[in-house]
Amino acid sequence: MKYDVAIIGAGPGGIFSAYEFVKKAENLKVAVFESGYPLEKRNCPIDGVKIKTCINCETCAIMNGFGGAGAFSDGKYNITNDFGGTLYEYIGREKALELMHYVDDINMSHGGEGTKIYSTAGSEFKKLCMQNNLTLLDASVRHLGTDINYVVLENLYNELKDKVNFFFHTPVEKLEKTENNTYILRTKDDAVECDYCIVSVGRSGSKWMEQTCRDLQIKTHSNRVDIGVRVELPAVLFSHLTDELYESKIVYQTEKFEDHVRTFCMNPHGAVVNENTNGIVTVNGHSYEDPKKHTENTNFALLVSKHFSEPFKDSNGYGESIARLSNMLGGGVIVQRFGDLERGRRSTEKRIEEGTVRPTLNATPGDLSLVLPKRILDGIIEMIYALDKIAPGTANEDTLLYGVEVKFYNMEVELDNNLETCHKGLYIIGDGSGVTHSLSHASASGVFVANRIIENLT
Ligand SMILES: Cc1cc2nc3c(=O)[nH]c(=O)nc-3n(C[C@H](O)[C@H](O)[C@H](O)COP(=O)(O)OP(=O)(O)OC[C@H]3O[C@@H](n4cnc5c(N)ncnc54)[C@H](O)[C@@H]3O)c2cc1C
Repeated sequence: MKYDVAIIGAGPGGIFSAYEFVKKAENLKVAVFESGYPLEKRNCPIDGVKIKTCINCETCAIMNGFGGAGAFSDGKYNITNDFGGTLYEYIGREKALELMHYVDDINMSHGGEGTKIYSTAGSEFKKLCMQNNLTLLDASVRHLGTDINYVVLENLYNELKDKVNFFFHTPVEKLEKTENNTYILRTKDDAVECDYCIVSVGRSGSKWMEQTCRDLQIKTHSNRVDIGVRVELPAVLFSHLTDELYESKIVYQTEKFEDHVRTFCMNPHGAVVNENTNGIVTVNGHSYEDPKKHTENTNFALLVSKHFSEPFKDSNGYGESIARLSNMLGGGVIVQRFGDLERGRRSTEKRIEEGTVRPTLNATPGDLSLVLPKRILDGIIEMIYALDKIAPGTANEDTLLYGVEVKFYNMEVELDNNLETCHKGLYIIGDGSGVTHSLSHASASGVFVANRIIENLT
């Protein structure tokens, strides 16, 4: 079977590429290969009753399938060059923002209309943060919410399914280049050929991506890893910030080590969830747009970035080892009250139950100081006290810390300004490229590359 374009991965990057082909070059034969299942078949078995923690399914319903890692996410599309990736370094700041707005328009016309967009522009909180040694990053945030995000994905799928060949539960095992400069995608039972190949395998495809780059001799560079905890506290403590900004990305430089600690993925009235990357269970969070599904808590991550210099290159391996340690001690994610952490004692079921913050994730009470390196933990504690100045109550004894939260970044793949590899016709986009780390940047990279290919072909 021969295709004009084959896309590997049906996350936001792959979906928005496919969407562009359907809209602008419908005569092209396009196939999408996806390890996971279609949207409606993506069911995580954790029900909180019979199955309480991750059982390491063959394909993780949270990370894989139509919609990618973003399918059950909070659907926060941050329209900014300040965070979420470095797409602007390749395609320019203006183009990157233009494409993020374009993606937002598509989301709005596919079920997202009526959802709110928040902005830091003109916010009084900038000053308040500055006065307390904190920096509030600039962004506009479209919050779809987990429920509307699902509706948008459903609508996009319905529009694409008859015009694009989707192959679900079909991981591409090997990608090869032929002498004619076409590409062969080998799956378990089959092989297809294509003229153009777009690789959009996300974070869950990081190991596959590394191997493919080795096979095809594409250069890669080590990226950073972000390590930290997810904080959960009563929503009311952060409501003055979240009501106006929804998500605030706040950065703090620690006094002790001058490290940067930042807030990440803030979910007002949300829930804390498990995340499984290559069998390692870490923590994440999301929230619904529908007020009926709101919880009484807000959660957000506090992360410290670790960059390594020569000779150490395996920053993801470092993050994995720390996550494994928490999985070893807690059988998954560990939860600890801030007061217990400060006192140097573990949390227990009883201490959590007696606290005033009701956990939204069933995690194992334990001691995060046995897991997180001192430097990272010290930074997180300093940041909690800094946030306490703009949101009093953050440093309360009952504030819950879940660990570990790790943001793995794929190795940065060497790409030109078209996101094309050293092999003509082979493009790498989204989080799998190491260039993007967010829904908006990954989606924009998909739109960008599809248009490059369409221009080449016409
Ligand atoms: C719980 C959670 C909440 C999040 N919340 C937000 C948020 O609110 N805002 C935000 O900006 N970002 C959020 N993110 C991050 C966001 O989801 C990602 O940045 C985004 O999905 C990246 O898109 P992508 O297309 O590059 O990769 P992915 O979404 O990871 O998609 C890659 C796809 O490729 C498939 N794949 C991998 N390898 C292969 C292979 N060999 N063959 C075939 N298919 C393969 C995978 O199954 C997957 O479906 C969240 C992530 C998680 C896990």
